[in-house]
Amino acid sequence: MIERTLILVKPDGVARGLVGEIVSRFEQRGLKIGAIKLVRVPESLAKKHYDYDDIVKRRGELVWKKLVKYVTNQVVVALVIEGVEAIALVRKICGETEPKAALPGTIRGDFAHHSFKYADSKDLAVTNLVHASSDAKDAEREIPLWFEKDEIISYKRSDEAFHYGE
Ligand code: ADP
Ligand code: MG
Repeated sequence: MIERTLILVKPDGVARGLVGEIVSRFEQRGLKIGAIKLVRVPESLAKKHYDYDDIVKRRGELVWKKLVKYVTNQVVVALVIEGVEAIALVRKICGETEPKAALPGTIRGDFAHHSFKYADSKDLAVTNLVHASSDAKDAEREIPLWFEKDEIISYKRSDEAFHYGE
């Protein structure tokens, strides 16, 4: 039940100096950083990360193109976050895809306000600060795209004995 999930602080998050703020949302929830690094994203990686068929089916080809442009625009911070049933929890902490609809208290609901309507009227992806793997299958596919095995580090946080036993 201990899961690992991939997070990206997207270029707008890095540009706005929100890396610390965003990472602390996960840390303060008791989730553990398993890996973290700054990445200048090559187009080839962006295209692997945002699976063409998946995005086109759910959002349309234009969104896929705008997304690739968005994540390759500047640097991102990539993280592996670990914890009890972490995949769904991290999605909840991030909030809904559309910042306009995201609830206050979530990362997208506290720090962003973009809307689909506005993004669609421009040559823009909706700027929503973070990516988080949507489910276990996605996490398993995405983590190795961003991290080598030896970049993901196992260690104990001092509070783990309380939560995990032993
Ligand atoms: P999520 O990031 O919440 O998992 P999706 O996987 O559906 O959302 O979409 C990937 C990303 O594509 C979103 O985070 C957002 O940046 C962008 N996006 C999704 N839908 C649209 C849209 N209609 N117009 C512009 N950008 C979009
Ligand atoms: Mg997604």
